[in-house]
Amino acid sequence: MSVGTATIIDGKGLSQRLLTEVAARVRACEEQGVKPCLAVVLVGEDPASQIYVRSKERRAAECGIATRDHRLPATTTTSELLSLVRLLNEDDEVDGILVQLPLPPGIDSDAVLVAIDPRKDVDGFHPDNLGLLMLGRPRFVACTPQGCMRLLADAGVELRGKRALVVGRSTIVGKPMAQLLLQADATVTIAHSRTVDLPGLVADAEVLVAAIGRANFIRGEWVRPGAAVIDVGMNRLETGKLAGDVEFAAAIERASAITPVPGGVGPMTIACLLSNCVDAAARRAGLA
Ligand code: NDP
Repeated sequence: MSVGTATIIDGKGLSQRLLTEVAARVRACEEQGVKPCLAVVLVGEDPASQIYVRSKERRAAECGIATRDHRLPATTTTSELLSLVRLLNEDDEVDGILVQLPLPPGIDSDAVLVAIDPRKDVDGFHPDNLGLLMLGRPRFVACTPQGCMRLLADAGVELRGKRALVVGRSTIVGKPMAQLLLQADATVTIAHSRTVDLPGLVADAEVLVAAIGRANFIRGEWVRPGAAVIDVGMNRLETGKLAGDVEFAAAIERASAITPVPGGVGPMTIACLLSNCVDAAARRAGLA
């Protein structure tokens, strides 16, 4: 690994390449008479969720994936949402179901995620899919960690035998990320809010994945010289700008490779979602 100014890992470029592949696979499905289709469910008016959903739908359209838009009011009950999920489960023309998180506080998110047919769970959050990942037989891998793995592979980062640190233990990012790194033969440590001596762990990590949700929390001077750094954090500053969890300007002087925010993990998350959706459609088309 070289030390000095890091290579900036281009998530935007890699996501474009993945989306081009997805579009080609969509055409192959269409030749078999199957139009890939993603159902997008948004409950409530959360502005960030509205932006995410719009951008997912726009990218889906660019790849030729049809979307079914279901916008529900914040007053929707768990049982109303469960009824919609059941309808989508039974709809043979729907390949993937995306329920945008977070759901409004009154809704039982776990009940909703469990109700999604695991074969349509393109977010990879269903317990069946998390369990299959754990067993090393993944069906749908959660999109953000999958995107991080693709970024590491594309940047040529060797994982076998390396000390990898994942900061954050959420079910949608940190835990599946750690599992994927483990399956790639890294020696994995997971840090969280109760971890003692985070700077020491970061200093030891040859591969660092930060998924905390606190702007610039990981100081550049903690980063091990030559480390590969994947910054999942997306934090809105008072200035309106987005910042990652890692202090980019200082970390870039020490890392060998680093993802920017924006333009790193974010675009890969959406591309992996659409890749999962076309995987589901390819199964329906008998192509997988
Ligand atoms: P969560 O809030 O669910 O999890 C955050 C994790 O960070 C928790 O495990 C928490 O520990 C840990 N943490 C909090 N404070 C500290 C601390 N001081 N030291 C060490 N660990 C700490 O967030 P998500 O996993 O959903 O998301 C993390 C970040 O990634 C957010 O900024 C989010 O916006 C971003 N994100 C970006 C995506 C993308 O596409 N780029 C997609 C998904 C998320 P504990 O468990 O102990 O509370």
